[in-house]
Amino acid sequence: MANHFGGTLAEALTQKGVSRRDFLKFCTFMAGTLALPAGFAPRIARALETAQRPPIVWLEMQDCAGCTESLLRANQPTVAELVLDILSVNYHETIMAPSGQRAVKSLEDTVQAGGYLTVVEGSIPTGDNAYYCCIGGRTAEDILKEVAANTAAIIAVGACAFYGGWPSTPTGRGGPSPTGAKGVRDIITDKPIINLGGCPYNVDNLTATVVHYLTFGLPALDNLGRPLFAYGRRIHDNCERRAHFDRNEFVRAWGDEGHRNGWCLYQMGCKGPVAYQNCPTIRWNQGTNWPVGAGHGCIACGGENFWEMAAYETVPIVDEDKTPPATYPPVEGAEQGISPAGAGLIGAAAGLAVGVAGAVAVHQLTKRESE
Ligand code: SF4
Repeated sequence: MANHFGGTLAEALTQKGVSRRDFLKFCTFMAGTLALPAGFAPRIARALETAQRPPIVWLEMQDCAGCTESLLRANQPTVAELVLDILSVNYHETIMAPSGQRAVKSLEDTVQAGGYLTVVEGSIPTGDNAYYCCIGGRTAEDILKEVAANTAAIIAVGACAFYGGWPSTPTGRGGPSPTGAKGVRDIITDKPIINLGGCPYNVDNLTATVVHYLTFGLPALDNLGRPLFAYGRRIHDNCERRAHFDRNEFVRAWGDEGHRNGWCLYQMGCKGPVAYQNCPTIRWNQGTNWPVGAGHGCIACGGENFWEMAAYETVPIVDEDKTPPATYPPVEGAEQGISPAGAGLIGAAAGLAVGVAGAVAVHQLTKRESE
């Protein structure tokens, strides 16, 4: 059944030439991203076959456009089309074709029709009558309040929309944020808000949030308003380098033998032990890799004010049965067993197939191989 936004997701996919097989593969990938067993894929498929294409309003406020860059980097055709075309992005200042009054009209029509999802990127400046970010002569705060009034839910993508991000930090001279930047949650209090933390956020988590909304309704959230499917597990517990942590095998200098062998980055400041996000399981760029896989520690960008943790200093291990010693035995010889590259490949494949279970399998395999 078609609506004024152009019919169901399945119809739109068919028009785009997406095969049934690729559609079902996408549903399996979404089940994994949602931390669900692969058996949920048929249910997701049924929901997407009947759900109307959800119109999206994307508001880009005070930001660096990094989250839009994350969106545009979704180069796997089915996912990219689902996000950019299939999901009916009716309004997005940065990437929409209309401009000027035609763009404003598109926004007005969508708001009037209601039932849309709103994605907010960037913080909302509130200082000095909120004039630091104006679009079409109106402040970002005014536009957000108007769009929020008729939306089904708001998805705040990235650190800035989540809690204000960098623009909300003091100037360094002891004063407050010069623009009075705030997150969506500080402005809108009467609508469901889903925070996809990260700097930038992971676009697969946006797709998964929309799929969850269409299949099961709004996702369960943690105490920071982040979906549990994406932020409910600690990075440290799903990391392919975890077996090395458990064996006290640490990188101690960039480029040393431990670094080349894919050992644990804890001593190089990795914040994985205090970070909660699904980066190890869904990874980035269609499961290609993630920062720790590429050899740099996690910076915990999915949480609040992550820059307050010095980038290359260690974080306390508060819930382990052991704390790594202050000194470590020398790194000797190449690691035997599964290679970091092999672990990454298996993790990518397993993560695509079964999500969290994939990463856990890699962790266990890595650990078993290294014992
Ligand atoms: Fe934990 Fe980071 Fe080491 Fe991975 S690299 S095991 S997340 S400390």
